[in-house]
Amino acid sequence: MSKPTFEFEFDPEELKRVSRSDSTAPVEEPKPSKLDDEDRGGRAASRRISVHALGQMAFCPRSAVLALERGDQEDPEEQLPRLDYLPNFDLARIEESLKVQVRWLLVAVTFLVMLLVPLVFGMWWGEPLVIYPSLGIVVGLLWWIANLAEDVLILSQRRHAALNATAKEPSPRIDAVQEISWWEMIRAGFEPAKYERPFQHPLLPLEGSPWRVLQRDSLRIPVVRSNAQRLGNRKGEVFEKHCMRLAAYAVLLETTDHVQSPYGLVFLNDDHRGLAVPITQHDKDSVHEAAERFRLLLKQMDAGEAEPARPENESHCRTCPYGQPVHLNDSEESQLNADGQDVFVILDHSDRRFHSNCGNRFRWIPPHAKAMHRQFRVGD
Ligand code: SF4
Repeated sequence: MSKPTFEFEFDPEELKRVSRSDSTAPVEEPKPSKLDDEDRGGRAASRRISVHALGQMAFCPRSAVLALERGDQEDPEEQLPRLDYLPNFDLARIEESLKVQVRWLLVAVTFLVMLLVPLVFGMWWGEPLVIYPSLGIVVGLLWWIANLAEDVLILSQRRHAALNATAKEPSPRIDAVQEISWWEMIRAGFEPAKYERPFQHPLLPLEGSPWRVLQRDSLRIPVVRSNAQRLGNRKGEVFEKHCMRLAAYAVLLETTDHVQSPYGLVFLNDDHRGLAVPITQHDKDSVHEAAERFRLLLKQMDAGEAEPARPENESHCRTCPYGQPVHLNDSEESQLNADGQDVFVILDHSDRRFHSNCGNRFRWIPPHAKAMHRQFRVGD
């Protein structure tokens, strides 16, 4: 199969949306780059854009650049993954974790029964030195048992869903978003594959590897997982960043001959029920345009001609961790300077020093919710 080449006519309005070259908005102009023109051109041309950062463009161009430069693979605006995350999407790991949790549950119940003996005798004798410590441990054990019982219930439900699913899959000619279950896809014969090394596009500056690829015959279905609380916006539409990422992964997967990715899947971390999102030729063309536009923006940034725009909807900044002000002490500032970061110090009404990742990078005070009531100003 011959590899296509792409030429794009950029819509100037769209380019303005993601980049900003006026001088009115920033608190402080970015420092001029020391690179000469050749270095700048070469750097922008050789830099690869991660699919994750490309998807982030839909949320905020500045967050896309920050994600790219920092190598972040988690959406900053989404909540952090739970530390006590229970396995899902993998029957062997679910069953293994279920066995471990049941074992701990039995241990906890055994301890509880053993402790009831001194507690009953302590109450019988009216001995407070026995009653109160025993009661404290019993309460602790009951709390532990409740947590273990909840985990066992969740894992049992996941195991039940995995073992009782029936084969079902979207049509390769899917033309609308539809609900799908991970286990239905597995029953339909798809094999989940995990690629440690990112796919690299031969023509575009694009690279990335989805969380999983479901494979069967010539079908390669990219799968992404999200830490968000729901899979779509308030209107029920799939988030634009997820659509963009699925289409970008499809573009990367289809660089292999005789492979098709007519749709992609998106799931929440804790739920095997997700959405199948059609990937049309128009979506793939949009990926090519977005990647080229991103590359042009990076080139303009390297040349000091533009910087990424703020999000169209500045309410995005209110909860964005990149814009969250963090208290700054001298040792942290020295460490950041040693790491090559030029810290943009801001002061609150008590002259305490703060900074943020977005503020450091773009020399401004992002309108984060925690910045609003402190009335920050630029430090000296
Ligand atoms: S703080 Fe605002 S401008 Fe900065 S990355 Fe977050 S959303 Fe974008």
